[in-house]
Amino acid sequence: MDIKALIREIPDFPKPGILFRDITTLLRHPEGLRYTIDSLAEKSTDLAPDYIIGMESRGFIFGTALACQMGCGFIPVRKMGKLPAAVHTVEYDLEYGTDRLQLHQDAIAPGSRVLIVDDLIATGGTAAATVQLVEQSQGELAGFAFVIELTELKGRDRLPDVPIISLIEY
Ligand code: 5GP
Repeated sequence: MDIKALIREIPDFPKPGILFRDITTLLRHPEGLRYTIDSLAEKSTDLAPDYIIGMESRGFIFGTALACQMGCGFIPVRKMGKLPAAVHTVEYDLEYGTDRLQLHQDAIAPGSRVLIVDDLIATGGTAAATVQLVEQSQGELAGFAFVIELTELKGRDRLPDVPIISLIEY
């Protein structure tokens, strides 16, 4: 199935010069959504994760569906100030300024295997920040799974040497 054809391109969003890959058109397509989750699950099976970690907010959508499909638990990584219990925090650089992500301190049982999932990897900054949160929790990183990889930005070069799955490349 050609899921690339189900991803809409929006020029100049959220700022001039950016071509945004809009996955909402993939999500609303029943067979497209099913195929996406099935493909991610098939490619991730060998990584044998105990938990899927998804980043706010599109990582929640694919991550939760994948966790359900694979029989794993789902753990959210959220923007600053949203999680109610004790948290680990990581600060990371954006093009302009910095941002912070948080994870509940007790979410990952030490030594358990986690698969980091997001809709898209661009520079890899978000995924690399999430790796730091997994390390703070003493989780074992099993790998990464993305629906889309923007290969020119070489985001995978910023990630540790574990399997990196992506379904579509631009
Ligand atoms: P990175 O940190 O790898 O530079 O950027 C990846 C993050 O930004 C992901 O959480 C992703 O959801 C978001 N992102 C950046 N560009 C796009 C885009 O064109 N489409 C979508 N759907 N998400 C994007």
